[in-house]
Amino acid sequence: MDLNLSPSEEAFRQEVRTWIRQNLPPEWTVDRLEELKPEEAVACGRKWQERCGAAGWLGLAWPKEYGGRGATLMEQAIYVTEAIEARSPMAVDKIGLQLVGPGLIEIGTPAQKERFLGRILRGEMLWCQGFSEPNAGSDLANVQTKAVLDGDEWVINGQKVWSSDAPWADWCTLLARTNPDAPKHKGLTMLAVPMSSPGITVRPIKQPSRRAEFAEIFFENVRVPRDAVIGDLGTGWTVTMRMLTYERGLYTLVEIPRFEKAWRQEVEYARSHRRNGRALIEDATVRERLAQSYAYIQMMRLTNLRYITRYLRGVAPGEESSLMKLHWATTDQGLYDLAMALGGPASLIMLNAPRALYSGQWNADYFYSRACTIYGGTQDIHRNLVAERIFGLPR
Ligand SMILES: Cc1cc2nc3c(=O)[nH]c(=O)nc-3n(C[C@H](O)[C@H](O)[C@H](O)COP(=O)(O)OP(=O)(O)OC[C@H]3O[C@@H](n4cnc5c(N)ncnc54)[C@H](O)[C@@H]3O)c2cc1C
Repeated sequence: MDLNLSPSEEAFRQEVRTWIRQNLPPEWTVDRLEELKPEEAVACGRKWQERCGAAGWLGLAWPKEYGGRGATLMEQAIYVTEAIEARSPMAVDKIGLQLVGPGLIEIGTPAQKERFLGRILRGEMLWCQGFSEPNAGSDLANVQTKAVLDGDEWVINGQKVWSSDAPWADWCTLLARTNPDAPKHKGLTMLAVPMSSPGITVRPIKQPSRRAEFAEIFFENVRVPRDAVIGDLGTGWTVTMRMLTYERGLYTLVEIPRFEKAWRQEVEYARSHRRNGRALIEDATVRERLAQSYAYIQMMRLTNLRYITRYLRGVAPGEESSLMKLHWATTDQGLYDLAMALGGPASLIMLNAPRALYSGQWNADYFYSRACTIYGGTQDIHRNLVAERIFGLPR
């Protein structure tokens, strides 16, 4: 693969840069949104998503027939890089754009594509992902939330947990057991459930960072129409795996420019701050850790490019997405552990300090990096997948 940008990709970069510069109001940049209450930040994020959607910047790589631009994944990567450089928020409906949409394009019925894809692109729906339950995390096939057909409606009862964006989502992509007599992977179905349905209670989970962007969701006799099924009846496991593959693989496109920017900020911090009478950058340990962090980011970038190349050649995302997820977590945590080490004892204060006192958004990102070894499948689960499915080792 040629890693240099082609002239048309370079022109695309300029187009993106100019558009963001002309359209992103300063009060909607990531730094300013961080100062708002979560609900207010989400409201601004939705307006930004609508603006991006109207200008055709969302679902860039989606085929044109579904409202996308049919752009290459490389162009999508360029867009994300420029957005991060400009401190632009990412689209607020991450789950709709990165999981539900691509999943529907791959396995949805024509009616489902017609019903959902355009609205996702226009920012009219915000999705959450209702997969995990108290006894179904790594062992996701153990889902106990039930959906029972009653006439022309499904009646849903059960509980989900750790559902990101649930406090403000309009729709939930819900994994439910529709056939208790079938083997556990076969009795599941994916349903599209409006979060405004009577019988749904959302209980936000407050974190040490004081954020509460994920929640428990309780379903008590919630009714949705029979055609709420995504994919086909009994294919919930396959649909889930396809969606998760997009989350673990292509989603990392968003992360690499974020890490590269944070790394540059760390270098700048090490140059401009002194400890024990000398600049931090003069400390050999600091230099070594910066170099190591840089190497990890580049390994992640190159692995991602290899992944994109395979995708462009028509190979659907597969087990190598587990490798991406493993790289992602190691890089993420190493980078922000280093940020805390650079801050030294002051980091403890910085974790709770206003962002203005500490360049970049290291405090929020440090806290969030802790979760990376858990969400999207834990490290242990991905190591098992790599061992069994890539190296062919016994279970
Ligand atoms: C920030 C964040 C956001 C999330 N967002 C969502 C969301 O939007 N929607 C959603 O549905 N879920 C979401 N999750 C939940 C996430 O998918 C689960 O937490 C994850 O799958 C692990 O499940 P668990 O928490 O039940 O842990 P468990 O499965 O109970 O695992 C506990 C420990 O045992 C280990 N373990 C378990 N089984 C094995 C095994 N077979 N071999 C080796 N080790 C094993 C695990 O690695 C882990 O260390 C989110 C989680 C986080 C942290």
